[in-house]
Amino acid sequence: MSNVIPFRKPDLKKRAKAHTLCKNGYHKWKIVQERKFDVKQGRLVTLSRCIRCGKEKTTLT
Ligand SMILES: [Zn+2]
Repeated sequence: MSNVIPFRKPDLKKRAKAHTLCKNGYHKWKIVQERKFDVKQGRLVTLSRCIRCGKEKTTLT
């Protein structure tokens, strides 16, 4: 019986890849707050945060 597939520690690899994506600007945005009023811009924006690295951004609504 040696047909067991050695498939272990996929999480570490996954995490490293995700980190690379973030480094290259490919964040995984998740909307934190929609239609939030941005005082600086004087208009409604949507606040998003990357679920991997925690970076935040605002986009015009
Ligand atoms: Zn990120």
